[in-house]
Amino acid sequence: MTNSTKKPVSVKKNSKRRHSRSIVSRKNLTIPISVFGNVMKQFDAAAKKLKMDSSIMDFIKMPRRSTIVNLPVRMDDGSFKMFKAYRVQHSIARGPAKGGLRYHPDVTLDEVQALASWMTWKCAVVNIPFGGGKGGVVCDPNKLSEGELERLTRRYVADMIELFGPDDDIPAPDVGTGPKVMAWFMDTYAMRENRSVPGVVTGKPISLGGSLGRVEATGRGVMLCTREAAKHLKIDLSQATAAVQGFGNVGSIGAKLLHDLGVTFTHVSDVHGAIHNPKGINIDDLIKYLHAKKSIIGFPGTKTVRPDAVLFAKVDILIPAALENVITEKNADKVRARIVAEGANGPTTPEADKILAKNNIFVIPDILCNAGGVTVSYFEWVQNRIGYFWPEDEVNRRLEEKMVAAFQDVLEVSKKNRATMRIAGFMVAIMRVVDVVEQRGIYS
Ligand code: NAD
Repeated sequence: MTNSTKKPVSVKKNSKRRHSRSIVSRKNLTIPISVFGNVMKQFDAAAKKLKMDSSIMDFIKMPRRSTIVNLPVRMDDGSFKMFKAYRVQHSIARGPAKGGLRYHPDVTLDEVQALASWMTWKCAVVNIPFGGGKGGVVCDPNKLSEGELERLTRRYVADMIELFGPDDDIPAPDVGTGPKVMAWFMDTYAMRENRSVPGVVTGKPISLGGSLGRVEATGRGVMLCTREAAKHLKIDLSQATAAVQGFGNVGSIGAKLLHDLGVTFTHVSDVHGAIHNPKGINIDDLIKYLHAKKSIIGFPGTKTVRPDAVLFAKVDILIPAALENVITEKNADKVRARIVAEGANGPTTPEADKILAKNNIFVIPDILCNAGGVTVSYFEWVQNRIGYFWPEDEVNRRLEEKMVAAFQDVLEVSKKNRATMRIAGFMVAIMRVVDVVEQRGIYS
């Protein structure tokens, strides 16, 4: 198996590549940023502080199993097209592998391994009984018809069916997939098993066994972590300002819930650009505007600004909620927020982390900050297994309990060890995974 991201890639002017495939130049060499390399650096920094048995560290750090398949899919014109697809199970030490399925043209094995690994640590930080997994298909879902997407999804399940199951590996939506893809996934699995198995995926439509509160869960988790961080730093949220990069599921809901707590958003961006109003942007109205216009640009009372103005805004809270590798060693010094609440996975590189720490910026790491989604996925799986569904306020109450407990656990380790919240988050997660590995032993 070769890792294609190791190949140097030439730099194109105005390239529209996603940041996960960003290029760094070192002494005339062009080296792509390996997202999995970033996770390993984060892991190593925490492992060093923990001073634990290095052979156990080697065991829990590497992905357990990476599967690559080439899927033949019948297109609407009758031709067949091949699609490369991945499923990585990083760990099943604490429970079944858990993690989303991404449809995107830039998906690579490196990225899927990184995302699977983050899932292991994320599930451990919020203390839910899952390991980590992730899947991806190299495709542009916007260029496929509904029928093509359905056939692609069903073939993905069929070709790796032995990996999946409510006690084995439980996918969920990610970038480019949603409840509809999960419904096809569940149906294909159920047809092959000849029985109903709703717990094989989460993020399903409510009528198929999805959980109330799942759609809002990640944004709600971002709000809860930010609220706890503000309490810790003695920042009064009703006087606080904020900026959000990315106004999709995570960014818009996180911003709406913080706006409800009195936070003033001065900067918002999405893929089309960035808007600014020093007096504050009404987030409820912006969400309605986005639904109507499909873009935030032109929202009344705001002016369009450079996209990076969002990252460098002088605000109390910055929420990167779009892409990986947006805060790097090249721009981290320009970040002026007091709290960085990582809604996205991997928005800050390890080098940038050091700069933010030096500048005394409180980073709520992704494995904690955006863990609300997987937490409610766990609740969905539990509800599927008991066959009884909770009202939304019950889901939200349980989510709050889990997120606040996780935040406090990480904060305590951070204070005790004089570690950043990122390193402390990894320390909490690693200790929990090591604990079960030591009790189970390594079968060899
Ligand atoms: P989404 O597709 O709903 O929204 C993404 C947003 O980012 C959109 O507003 C898009 O316009 C914007 N965007 C894209 N490129 C941009 C750019 N260059 N500059 C500024 N904005 C840009 O996706 P989402 O579900 O909100 O996920 C966002 C991030 O959160 C991803 O990193 C994802 O892995 C992570 N995440 C999501 C969940 C979840 O439950 N949805 C859970 C955990 C982590």
